[in-house]
This record gives sequence, structure tokens and C-alpha cells, in this order.
Amino acid sequence: MPSEPKPVYDFADLKDWSAATAGLEPPARLSVFGDPVAHSLSPQMHNPGLAEAGIDAQYVRLHIRPEELADAYRLLPEAGFLGTNVTIPHKTETLAAMADVTDVARRIGAVNTVLVEEDGTLLGHNSDGPGFQRAIREEFSVDLSDLRILILGAGGGAGRAAAVQCAMDHCERLVLVNRTIEKAQSLKEELAGFFRSDRLEGPVDRLEVIPWDHDALARQMDYVDLIVNGTSLGMKRTDPQLLHPSLIQPHQMVYDMVYSPPRTRLMADAQAEGARAANGLSMLLWQGAISFEFWFNQAAPIDAMRRGLNDALGRK
Ligand code: NAP
Repeated sequence: MPSEPKPVYDFADLKDWSAATAGLEPPARLSVFGDPVAHSLSPQMHNPGLAEAGIDAQYVRLHIRPEELADAYRLLPEAGFLGTNVTIPHKTETLAAMADVTDVARRIGAVNTVLVEEDGTLLGHNSDGPGFQRAIREEFSVDLSDLRILILGAGGGAGRAAAVQCAMDHCERLVLVNRTIEKAQSLKEELAGFFRSDRLEGPVDRLEVIPWDHDALARQMDYVDLIVNGTSLGMKRTDPQLLHPSLIQPHQMVYDMVYSPPRTRLMADAQAEGARAANGLSMLLWQGAISFEFWFNQAAPIDAMRRGLNDALGRK
């Protein structure tokens, strides 16, 4: 009888979940689906939260391949799951497997949180956008609605989620930047309806797409308060520089969705210019908290979840 969960379960385990998890206390009733998934810190974040809240469930990793995804959703209710998180590469495909999705998930075009209702119905939500919103509030004590925001990597999954949230919160201004500019252009078309009013008067539009080049970025910087890195650049020392430091102004805030290393090159450059900077750990934490709220309809035990994440990363 195992008393410790396996580091990673797989689809074969899900097919006979009670046998695969026999003896586990509390029972494994929440998970993260991914391919790969072994790196996910979500169990270390959620399990202390579940214990703190006195919920009789534990959270495990489930390695689900794309061709297994639809069947995995079919199996979830009968395996006794309360819900699951979803990570790369399943967030977009999950949308179609849901009976219904929240407005924010539909607009982002991806689901990262699934709730299994008592009758087995699956409801999808996306906590990446709302998690980004709360992370900005925590890090900089300001709401998206009061900010002029530039997002690097706005065409990727995380950047798109942040951009949709900024639009839904009616931020003052939104500048979309993406290496593949077509993705930013189609996102702009989707978000245009949120920016119809003439709230901001001035020489720049409220919603813009710009090419990723130094001069185009330089023309924006007097009209931007918050710079966001939503690209996958910044984790490795050898990654190219995102922005020339001279572009960053002291009044600006810089949010790097990357959280490892804890002080990215972009953050170091920003701080050297006198700007405030924060890494993506707060977004990871708050997206987890919002998933918890969606599953249990109660406030998340944020301190326990934060401690769990910091312990997993060896941070204070
Ligand atoms: P994704 O969907 O694959 O998007 C990657 C983005 O990075 C795209 O915009 C892509 O541009 C851009 N990019 C990749 N290589 C580039 C390069 N050499 N130059 C310029 N742009 C480049 O990935 P994702 O899921 O959005 O994740 C992006 C980052 O956010 C990752 O570091 C991830 O760990 C982080 N993240 C953090 C959180 C959090 O909670 N803190 C949550 C989700 C993601 P193209 O469109 O041109 O390919």
C-alpha cells in the first residue's frame, strides 16, 4: 500500500485510478495534466494549501499525451476527481473538451483549470490572466485599469492571457509586441472592442501592435508604465537580451513572467535604470490561488501555498 504519491502518474494509472493510488491519504483527487509534467511545482504549492484548508484531497502530476487527452477527461469524473490544472501542450485543446467555459477562458482561447461538477460535468476556466492581474496588484500596488502596458511575447500563451486580462480590465493603453507579428495583429483585432472609448487623449493609440525593433520600442516608452515579458526568453544565461536597458525609464515597472532565475537579466537591467521589477513567481502563486477558488468557492490559503512554492524553490 503506497503512502507516498508517485512523482508522476500516467494515463494507464488514470484508467484504474483507485488501484494506482490505493492507500494514498488523503486521496489523489486533483492534478495537473501536462506533457511533460515532471517539472511542475503545482503539487508543492497546492498540497500545503489543501492541508491548511482541511480538504480531504491531494494534488498529483499526471503525464497525459495529446492523443490521450479526450479520454483522460472522460475518465476524470469516474476516478473521483474534483478538478485538474492543465499545462503545456493541452490548454487550447482542453477548451473543446469542456461542457462550458468562463468568459475569460473563452476570450483567452485556453483552459488551465477544470472543475468536475457533482454530476460529472466539466467546467473550464483560465487562471493565468486573473493570476497575472493579482500578481501586478501584489507586486506594484496598482491595478491594470490604471496602467499603460506593453507586453513582449503577446502572441504566446502566457502573453496572450495577460493581454486579454488587460483588455477585460480596461487598462489605459495596451501595446502588443511579438516576434511573429501576425499573432499580435490578430489579437489586436479580437481586443479592439475593449478600447473603443476615447479615454486617453494624446499622440498614441490606446491599442497598438508594434514590430519588435529598437526604434519602434523607443517611440513607445514615454507612454508606457508597465513592461511585461511574456516570452520564454530569460531562463537561460545565453538567451538574447529582450530590451536594450537604455529603453527602460525609472518610473516604469517591469514584470518578468519568468521566475527562474529569481532575478532575470531583464529585471537586473530594469533595476539598474531605477525601475521596479518583479519575477513571475507571484503569477504562478496567484493563478494557483484562483484555481483553488474555482474548485472550492472559497478564498485560497495563500500563505500556505506561498510557503510551499518557496520551499520547493529553496527560497525564503
Ligand atoms: P509559448 O506559448 O510557447 O509562447 C512563447 C512566446 O515567446 C511567444 O510569444 C514567442 O514568440 C516568444 N519567443 C520565443 N522565442 C523567442 C525569441 N527567440 N525571440 C522573441 N520571442 C520569442 O509559451 P508560454 O506558455 O506563453 O510561456 C512563455 C513564458 O512564460 C515561459 O517562460 C513560461 O515559463 C512563462 N510562464 C509563466 C507563468 C507564471 O505563472 N509565471 C505562467 C505561464 C507561462 P512567437 O510567437 O514569435 O513564437
